[in-house]
Amino acid sequence: MAEGESLGSIFQRLIARFGPITLQHYMGESNARYYAGKDPLGSGGDFITAPEISQMFGELIGLWLVDIWVRAGSPSPVHYVELGPGRGTLARDALRAMKRQGLDPQVHFVEGSEALRALQREAVPEAQWHDDLAALPTDAPLLIVGNEFLDALPVRQLVKTPHGWRERMVDFQDGKFLPVAGDKPMDAAVPENLKEAPDQTLIETCPGAAAVVDEIGRRLARQGGAALLIDYGHAAPQTGSTLQALKDHAKVDPFTSPGEADLTCLVDFAAMAEVALAGGARHLGTVTQGSFLRALGIDMRAAQLSAVAPQQSSAILAARDRLVDEGQMGTLFKVMGLAAPAWPDGAGF
Ligand code: SAH
Repeated sequence: MAEGESLGSIFQRLIARFGPITLQHYMGESNARYYAGKDPLGSGGDFITAPEISQMFGELIGLWLVDIWVRAGSPSPVHYVELGPGRGTLARDALRAMKRQGLDPQVHFVEGSEALRALQREAVPEAQWHDDLAALPTDAPLLIVGNEFLDALPVRQLVKTPHGWRERMVDFQDGKFLPVAGDKPMDAAVPENLKEAPDQTLIETCPGAAAVVDEIGRRLARQGGAALLIDYGHAAPQTGSTLQALKDHAKVDPFTSPGEADLTCLVDFAAMAEVALAGGARHLGTVTQGSFLRALGIDMRAAQLSAVAPQQSSAILAARDRLVDEGQMGTLFKVMGLAAPAWPDGAGF
C-alpha cells in the first residue's frame, strides 16, 4: 500500500546490493504497487477506460456474449469471467444487458488489487473473486472479458548490443533509474530472423500475457465458451519499446517514481492469437475497436439513448465518437475474439 517505504527506495537498495534488476521485475512490482492501494480510473485518476466513458461499451460486450451463447445452444450453467474489472463498470453494464436477454451467468472476477475489489463489490455484489485464472471453475463454459488487462502485465525486453543480445535491465545511477543492457548473453532467446539485427534493435515480449492467453485457450478448448480481449496494441509483430507511463492523464517518464504511475505496453495481438490457437481455441479474429463497436450497432444504441435523454444527446454522441473515431480510441484499440472449437463465429469479426 502507499504507506511505508517507497518502491523507489526498495529498488535502490536491491540494485545497490545485487546489481540492476530486469525491466520485467521493475514493471511487475511497479504496477502491483500502483494498483494495490488506489482507484486509478476516471477524471480524478490517471487514465480513463472505455467502460468509464459510456455504458454503451459494456452493454454491447454483453450483447455480443448473449449472441454467441444463444447460437452455441444456450448452455447452462455458464460463467462470466472478467480479468482486471477496474471499478466493475463494464461487468455491471454487460450483466444488465445479458440478463434482459435471458443470460444470467455466475460472475467471477480475477483481480489483484484490494482497493479495486472493494469498488467491484459495490458494483457487482454477487461476484466471486480470484487471484488468478487457475482458480476459475472447471465445470461449465466460460464467457471471458478483459479490457485493458493484458497491457498492464510486465514485459521482457531484449536489446541488440555490439556484444550480442542482452536483456534490458534497470539500474540506479546519479540519483535516477535508467535502462541499461544486462551482461548475460541472451542470443538463444531471440528468433532466428532477428539474430543479426542492427545494434539497438529491441524486442519486447510479455510472458504474463502469454500465460493468461494460454490458460484461456486451453480452458475454452476443454470447457467451451468464448473470450473478448480488448486492449491497445498492434495486429502485426513489430520491434521497439512500447513501454509508457501515465499519470494525471499525461505521459510521464516510466523511470521516475516507480509505483506511482500506470506502466503499460502495447499488446502483440498476433503473438496472442498464436498462443490461443496452440492451446486449442479458435481465433475468431482481431479487429479495431471502432469497427467492432460499429458492427455491433453502437450508432443505433447511441440514437436510442439520445431519444430517451435528449438533454444528454451531445454527451452520448461525444462518448460514441471517443470510442470509435480513428483519431481517438477507434483504431489504436483492438478487439480479439476467441472461442471453443465447437462454438460458432462471433459477431463483428
Ligand atoms: N478493465 C477495467 C480496468 C483496467 S485497469 C477498465 O476497463 O476500466 C487494469 C485492471 O487490471 C485493474 O483492475 C488492475 O487492478 C488489474 N490488474 C493489473 N495487473 C493485474 C494482475 N497481475 N493480476 C490481477 N489483476 C491485475
